[in-house]
Amino acid sequence: MTRVALVTGAARGIGAAIARRLASDGNAVAVLDLDAAACADTVDAITAAGGQAIAVGADVSDSASVEAAVAEVVERLGAPTILVNNAGILRDNLLFKMTDDDWDAVLGVHLRGAFLMSRAVQKHMVDAGFGRIVNLSSTSALGNRGQANYAAAKAGMQGFTKTLAIELGRYGITANAIAPGFIATDMTRATAERIGMTFDEFLVAAAKEIPVGRAGTPEDIAAAASFFCAEESGFTSGQVLYVAGGPKA
Ligand code: NAP
Repeated sequence: MTRVALVTGAARGIGAAIARRLASDGNAVAVLDLDAAACADTVDAITAAGGQAIAVGADVSDSASVEAAVAEVVERLGAPTILVNNAGILRDNLLFKMTDDDWDAVLGVHLRGAFLMSRAVQKHMVDAGFGRIVNLSSTSALGNRGQANYAAAKAGMQGFTKTLAIELGRYGITANAIAPGFIATDMTRATAERIGMTFDEFLVAAAKEIPVGRAGTPEDIAAAASFFCAEESGFTSGQVLYVAGGPKA
């Protein structure tokens, strides 16, 4: 059956790949990002491949914006029963240089954003007796220099995911987290710039530390998201899957 999936931060990077993959799996997809116009490439790629998608502009860290976005999805596409909390930002700095705003912005988008989106969407999942929630964590949840804010948010995503799994399981809703390792996107491109390397140098250096010998791609993460969102994955819940080209945790 056709389900409605909502993917946040889906204008580019990992979110865009997840949106395209969930569409090719047969779902109608709401492509959500800060700016609806920025979602055009993702929406066009889905419709060109014969899928169904709409662009939705919203700030996931803002409660009113989230409520309005979910209402818009219900009206234009139908009630969402698949939610991927992928929107994210970086504000890296060593602790002594990290500002209040660096902390609040990162916790706001990742953790508060996932909370607000999940709270807004869960009622549609409960009504349907079916739901799939996937939260993007990171290997940085295990600790990473210069990322006290991001590591705290990504570790928080794991506890949040497990709690949703416990609370919502009785309604046919699963919640799982994907913790990517190094994935080639604009986010890691920005990290390369920050530390003064070209992106190609950064990819080569990263690949040396990864057992499978390469950096990850957005499609590697989309494949994991597809599994968690599948109809047949209803007994897999509360899990954190490290998708990092080798063991973590
Ligand atoms: P990306 O290329 O920077 O894409 C993130 C998207 O989220 C952007 O389109 C961004 O919009 C959007 N966004 C930011 N703040 C938002 C908000 N308040 N409301 C709605 N959308 C917002 O990042 P990515 O590399 O694909 O990462 C996607 C997710 O995977 C993130 O949660 C990230 O932490 C996680 N992750 C990534 C890696 C990696 O190696 N790339 C590793 C582990 C985990 P703008 O362009 O307008 O800012």
